[in-house]
Amino acid sequence: MATPKVLVLGGNFGGLTAAIAVKHALDEDVDVTVLSPSKDFLFNPSLIWVPFGERTVEDITFPVAPTFESADVEFILAAAMSIDPATKSVTDSTGKIHNYDYLVVATGYDRNTTVIPGLTPANDTYDITTLPGAEETAVGWKKLLDDPGPIVIGATQGAGCFGAAYEFLFNVDYQARKNKIRDKVQITYVTAEPELGHFGMGGLPGGEKLLTKFLAHQKINHITSASMDEVVPGELRLSDGTKVPFKFSMIVPPFIGRKVNATIEGATDPGDFLKVRPTYQLDDHDDIYAVGLAAQVTAPWTTPIKTGVPKTGLPTETMAHTAAKNIVSQIKGLPPTEEKSFGDMPAVCVMDAGNKAVAILGDSMLGPKKGVMLPVPHAAKVGFEKYFMWKSKGGHVQLP
Ligand SMILES: Cc1cc2nc3c(=O)[nH]c(=O)nc-3n(C[C@H](O)[C@H](O)[C@H](O)COP(=O)(O)OP(=O)(O)OC[C@H]3O[C@@H](n4cnc5c(N)ncnc54)[C@H](O)[C@@H]3O)c2cc1C
Repeated sequence: MATPKVLVLGGNFGGLTAAIAVKHALDEDVDVTVLSPSKDFLFNPSLIWVPFGERTVEDITFPVAPTFESADVEFILAAAMSIDPATKSVTDSTGKIHNYDYLVVATGYDRNTTVIPGLTPANDTYDITTLPGAEETAVGWKKLLDDPGPIVIGATQGAGCFGAAYEFLFNVDYQARKNKIRDKVQITYVTAEPELGHFGMGGLPGGEKLLTKFLAHQKINHITSASMDEVVPGELRLSDGTKVPFKFSMIVPPFIGRKVNATIEGATDPGDFLKVRPTYQLDDHDDIYAVGLAAQVTAPWTTPIKTGVPKTGLPTETMAHTAAKNIVSQIKGLPPTEEKSFGDMPAVCVMDAGNKAVAILGDSMLGPKKGVMLPVPHAAKVGFEKYFMWKSKGGHVQLP
């Protein structure tokens, strides 16, 4: 019998974990290939520090080819362009066709930058959610240091990556103090969240109170349930007529799935995320899995202004391990019974504030009933970064 082929699209948090976990479990009894247009792994959580020169590209990336090679996983540097479930094949950006027995889609996120007009560095409006974006933000930050003025940090309607917006907000405040311009800059946080600390997760017990107190202490203004209309030079305009002036702004847009996801007919939601079961198999395809940001997650609530759900690192890894276990079962001729629903996963995150940090611990990713936000040292976030980079680079995906 031919060796089963597992093809993984994407080589970052979800893809790297799924690919190496399947290989670890089956060794020579499986061929695993990763297809990705990124030659480097990117530790996205540290993008918040790039604009201030606290991290370089080299600090937060590593080349993935050697990691996959030592795990005996084939790595192909190309983007998947289309997926054909009927022929069980994927066509890549060079026109090459790759057949699979099992497919894992871990293609992550794209950004919906057209959610409102004017989200562009030409309007001094930046976005740290990509590496090029974080590098552009560094240019904008330098400009602000030379000519200080009001700052807006925000997340648009539909955004879900609120943790990064908060972290960047607190780091901007810290860096403004460090550079002795804090008395010249008014900082305003503008968010679609219904209250501070909602995070697109339904909030944590005590979170709103703690963040309200902290923002007041740091003299940071805030506007919640904000619906943004547009950004024009020097001004953010909200749907209720509010105009917030700025010289520098960083606004997180909504995330959307990669276009390739939508080439599987009927498998995606309007945001191009793939609809999955708790096994991370697609709704209508037993042999195709989606994990991490590529997988659709729906919140059991609505907010007055639309918010997305943050799909963070820990749930991404959990999804990848769940998919890997199920693929291993299927290859062994067993039913794929491993299930981990997103809402039942714990929420664990460290939110950095420049020279201090807060650990966010909740019993569920969606609407935590029990949870705390605990002050922890800044070193906690740095330690998380160092550990995660080491673990991923070494392919030690079995570690927590
Ligand atoms: C600014 C920021 C800060 C964050 N902070 C935290 C934090 O503090 N803690 C935390 O837990 N999480 C954090 N997250 C979330 C975390 O980064 C995500 O959970 C994680 O990146 C999801 O991994 P993924 O593999 O699904 O997607 P990604 O990391 O986006 O990886 C997707 C991969 O797919 C590849 N790809 C793209 N298109 C294709 C294609 N057509 N074919 C094949 N491959 C493709 C990409 O090149 C990439 O390698 C943060 C995210 C951002 C953006």
